[in-house]
This record gives sequence, C-alpha cells and structure tokens, in this order.
Amino acid sequence: MASYTTLPVAPGVVTGKDLITLLDHAKANGYAIPAVNVSSSSTANAVLEAAAKAKAPVCIQVSQGGGAFLCGKGIADPKGSLPASAAGSVAVALHVRAVAAYYGVPVILHSDHCAKKLLPWFDKMLEADAAYHAAFGEPLFSSHMLDLSEEPDDENVAICAKYFAKMVKIDLFLEMEIGITGGEEDGVNNEDVDPAKLYTTPEQVFAVHAALAPIGAGFSIAAAFGNVHGVYKPGNVVLSPHKLGEHQAHAAAELGLAKGDKPLYLVMHGGSGSTDAEIGAAVSHGVVKMNIDTDTQWAYWDGVRAYEAKHKAYLQSQIGNPDGADKPNKSKYDPRKFIRAGEEAMRDRVCVAFDKLGTNGRLGEGYAANAPEPKAWNFLAGKKSSSWFG
Ligand SMILES: [Zn+2]
Repeated sequence: MASYTTLPVAPGVVTGKDLITLLDHAKANGYAIPAVNVSSSSTANAVLEAAAKAKAPVCIQVSQGGGAFLCGKGIADPKGSLPASAAGSVAVALHVRAVAAYYGVPVILHSDHCAKKLLPWFDKMLEADAAYHAAFGEPLFSSHMLDLSEEPDDENVAICAKYFAKMVKIDLFLEMEIGITGGEEDGVNNEDVDPAKLYTTPEQVFAVHAALAPIGAGFSIAAAFGNVHGVYKPGNVVLSPHKLGEHQAHAAAELGLAKGDKPLYLVMHGGSGSTDAEIGAAVSHGVVKMNIDTDTQWAYWDGVRAYEAKHKAYLQSQIGNPDGADKPNKSKYDPRKFIRAGEEAMRDRVCVAFDKLGTNGRLGEGYAANAPEPKAWNFLAGKKSSSWFG
C-alpha cells in the first residue's frame, strides 16, 4: 500500500466544508470514493469494516426502497407520502452516526435516486436534517441525490435549484442526475429508453453548473455516459467515459479556467460490471464517487450461500447432525453466524472497489492515530463537539 499524506478530515460522518475538502482531495489525487447501497445495519457495518481495512474514506447510501426495508416490510407508507421510508432512512443514518467513529474512517452519509414521485421521502429526510442541524450544527446526512432526469431538462434543473437553495442553508450537499442511466434499479426501469438520452452533452452539464454554482459549491452531477444499472448491457450502448472529460473541458473553457482544470464533481452510476480501464478513465476525468449496489448485493448473498453449503448438514434441524442425533446446532443457525458470512463477503467486495478506484490507503500514514476516543453518544452531539483538526 502506498503511503499518502494525512487527509485533513476527522473520522466519522463528514458534512459541509469537510465533505468539500474530502472530494477535492479525491479529485486532486485521482481517486474516487465508492458509494455502497445499504439496507440494514449489517450491510452498513460491512461497508464500514471494509473502509477501516482499506484505510479509505467511504460513502454509505440508502435508497427509498432501502429505507422502506429498514423501517420494516410489514409497515406500508400511506398513499402519496413516504414517512416510513424516510424513517427507515433516518434510522440507518443514526446507526452510522452512532458507530462510524469507532471504525476510524470518514463516512459520507447519502441518500440515493429520488425521482419526482419520491419527493415526499426527500422532504421528510430534509426535515430530519434541519432538526439535527438546529440541535448540533450540522445536518444528519452529508448529502442527498435528486434524480429528475426523466423530466425535461429545464424542469429538472429548476427543481434541483429550488431544493439546493434550501439545502445549502443547512450545509447539505446535492447530487443530481442529467441524462439517463440505463437498466433497472430499485423499481425504476430505464431498459427501453431512447439510447440518445443515455449520453449527456457537455452543454447540458454546463447548464446545470450555471444554475447551481451561484447558489453554492456543494453539488455533483451524475451525467450519463452509456452507463447502465445492473450487470448487463444493451448492445447499442457503449460506456464512454471520455465524454466526462469533454464535460470538464467544456466547463473549464466556459469558466475561463486553465486547460486541464476539472471544475465539476462527477459521479458514476451503474459501475457494476465495468472494466478496470473504464473505471480508471472515469476517475481520471473527475469522477469522485462511484455507486456500487449489484456487485455487493451478490457478494453478501454469495457469503450466505457458501456458509449454508459448508454447514448444510448442521442446518437441517435444531438438534441432530453428523456428530450425533442429540447434538445441538445452535452455534450454526444463530443469525450472527450466517449474516456474518454475508458481511465478510460484502466487506471483501467493497475492498475490491477501493482497489479499482484507487482509494486504498488514502487516509494517509498515521490517520486517526491522534483521534480522541469517540465521545459517548457522539452521534447525538454531531461533530461540533470534536476539536480534532480544529
Ligand atoms: Zn444510480
């Protein structure tokens, strides 16, 4: 592992200026932060464990469907409003707040795709952020994604600008999408979309920058460059990461910056199944965050599957196994055993992502060595109470 200078951001959930510092560090040093979807405390812990192992910053994100699962599938949201999904999303955010500092890594806490019909979920999370900010001086989440890419561009950008103006007041970062990520994810199906919409133009991207930059600096753009959610590709779509370089070049020219400057924070969706060269090219063009869901879902399942296969003879009844008809099997069917097997496999897959994105070891030599013991209930106090790095 190469040794890097220490990242000037404290461990725990990162918001506001610290988040900008972290993303600038990624952009300047040519790495991206994996953003892994979680739907339980178990999957969240697997991601944190991977980050601790890799000595790397990480992003934990929850989708509306993930939030609904976290609240419990037995609880349905009322028609037209999504408070249960929001409650589940807030629950995992509080979980991460409670434990993150013990892993000794900085964590971006983020919510994933929010289409127009999911705005009630978004609004409810913003309420939690505002309450947290009023109490502790920072938002509960680090950032949220709005995905109005199915709407006409001007409407997409206008809604983002309206929300962003509200969000900057409580130090929230915004991720938005323009152009469409193909495939299917979390109930949003873009499998039959017009292929031209799968490539965002530099002009479209700069229009977003022009609308949002006057409001605040904390926003990123998920531009489509032939990326697809899930592991499959329609034959007529080619992943074209060089297009991200064109977005940066166009924005730099429009802003009168030097050639080679990368003024945009770009995000890559649909990274599952991409080649190392494609990922490397995307990162070289200023992708600072890459989403991963499909591959880590598979890894978690594969860990559980392998566990069941290995211990099959001990998992058929509470009592009785090859060692004897009266032998108990409790030590094998305890959920902490098979769930742990899923966590370990997911952790290892997230570590592969750190490798591919160049994130390994980026916290630097001696990171967190001088960090204070996390304060009791640090997650309730926010980072306001931490004097680390002043
Ligand atoms: Zn996505």
